[in-house]
Amino acid sequence: MIDRMSRKTLYTGSLYWPTTIGKVKSYPPLGSQHEQFEAVVIGGGMSGILCGHTLACSGIRTAVVERGDIAGGSTSANTGIIQFSNDMMMSELADQIGESNAVMFYAACKHAVEYLALLSGKIPGGVDFKRRSSLYAASSEQDLPKLRREYEMLHRHGFDVEWWTPSMIRSKFPFTKPGAIITHGDAEVNPYRFVHGIAEDAAASGLTFYEHTDITSHETSGDGTHQLTSSEGGSLTCSNVIYAVGYEPEELRGQLIKARLNRSFALVTEPQTASFDVWHERFMIWETARPYLYLRTMKDNRIVIGGLDEETPAPLAGVHSRKDRIDELYQRLTEMFPTMTAPVAYEWSATFGESRDGLPFIGRDPARSGVYYSLGYGGNGTVYSLMACRLIRDMIRGETPPLASIVALDRPSLTTV
Ligand SMILES: Cc1cc2nc3c(=O)[nH]c(=O)nc-3n(C[C@H](O)[C@H](O)[C@H](O)COP(=O)(O)OP(=O)(O)OC[C@H]3O[C@@H](n4cnc5c(N)ncnc54)[C@H](O)[C@@H]3O)c2cc1C
Repeated sequence: MIDRMSRKTLYTGSLYWPTTIGKVKSYPPLGSQHEQFEAVVIGGGMSGILCGHTLACSGIRTAVVERGDIAGGSTSANTGIIQFSNDMMMSELADQIGESNAVMFYAACKHAVEYLALLSGKIPGGVDFKRRSSLYAASSEQDLPKLRREYEMLHRHGFDVEWWTPSMIRSKFPFTKPGAIITHGDAEVNPYRFVHGIAEDAAASGLTFYEHTDITSHETSGDGTHQLTSSEGGSLTCSNVIYAVGYEPEELRGQLIKARLNRSFALVTEPQTASFDVWHERFMIWETARPYLYLRTMKDNRIVIGGLDEETPAPLAGVHSRKDRIDELYQRLTEMFPTMTAPVAYEWSATFGESRDGLPFIGRDPARSGVYYSLGYGGNGTVYSLMACRLIRDMIRGETPPLASIVALDRPSLTTV
C-alpha cells in the first residue's frame, strides 16, 4: 500500500518547449472504469512514455497513467542536452563502484544516446534531434588534473574524446578555459516534441493512455496482483507496476531512495541575429564546477543556458524573485559570447533531483514483487529514462541484465554515501 501522493509545483515561469507544438494530442481519463493490463506505468513524462513505448512495442499489454498532461512535468523544463558523460565523471565513478562497472555504466549511457537517435528517426515531423559534440571545460586550474584524468580514462576505454588546450579553445571560441574534454556522439533534442511523438507512436502499437488520472492507492493481493486506484474511483489491475513519477512523491520514494532535491534556473533567448561562426560547430558547453553552467544553441538560433542550482527544492515563484538568477545567467552568456545579445524570451525555475551517489534509480522494488522504478535523477535524466525502459522490460521478462545491480535501488554504493 503506498502513501498518498503529493502534487508538487515542479516549475515556475515561462517554458519554451510547449510553444513549439501547435496542438498536442490528448487522451481520455480513466474515470470510474475498471481495467486490466499486464503492466501499468505511473507517470506520463519522458521516463513513463519511454517505458510504456518499449513495453507496448515488446508485446506487453500496457497502460500509462498521468495525473496531469503528458510531458507536463519536469520533462517540459528539460533543456534537451543529451550526453554520455555524466554529472559524476567516469573516473570518480570508478573510485566508487570499480572501473569495469563505471565503464559499463558509461557505455550504457552511450547506447542510450544511440537509442534516442533511433527513436527520433521514427517520429513524423521530427523532434529537432541533432548530433552534437560537447565541450566539457575545466572551470578552474584546480579542476584541470581531474579533468585530464577523466580524459585519459575515457580515451583508454575507447570513448570518442579529444583533449583541448586553452589556445585550442581560444581559436574556436571567443573565450578560453584552462582545458577541456571534447566528447563526440552527443545530441540535442526537443524533449517535449519527442515525448509527444513517442506517445503517438506507442499508441499506434497498442499502448493505452489515461491523462488527468491521479493514482492515489496501490494495493497488492496475496497472489501478487496489483490494484491501482484513482482519485475518481477507477482502478487498474496488473501484474507489473512501474513508477515513473519523476521528482515526486517524497513520501513514497523517501523510504526507498537517497536523493536531494534542488532548484535550478534556465533561460531561452530570442533568436540571435549575430553570426554563429564564433561558436565552433555549435558545441554544447558545460563545465567541472558544481553546480555547473550549461548552454547550447537551438534550431531557430536561440540559446538556452541553465544552472545556478540552489539547495532548495521549491522553484522560485514570480518573475521578480527569479530576476537576479536569470540576469546572472544572461550575464554569464554574454561574457562568453559578447556578440550574442538577443534578449531573454523565456525563463524558468524548476525542481531538479540528484541521487547521493550520482546514479539513477532503476529497477525492482527490493521489497515488492512486480514493482519497478524509472527515476532518472541527475543532469542526464533523459539518458537514464532511455536506459531504464529496456532494463525494466528485460526484468519483466525475468532477465537480470548486468547493469541492473549498478542502478538498483538497494545498490551498495548508496549505503556508503
Ligand atoms: C531545468 C532542468 C533542466 C534539465 N535539463 C536536462 C537536460 O538537458 N538533459 C537531460 O537529460 N535531462 C535534463 N533534465 C532532467 C529531466 O528533465 C528529467 O530527468 C526528466 O524530465 C524526468 O522525466 P520523468 O518522466 O522522470 O519526470 P516528469 O517529467 O516529471 O514526469 C513524471 C510524471 O509523473 C506524474 N505523476 C506523478 N505522480 C503521479 C500519480 N500518482 N498519478 C499519476 N501521475 C503521476 C507527474 O504528473 C509527471 O507528469 C533537466 C531538468 C531540469 C529541471
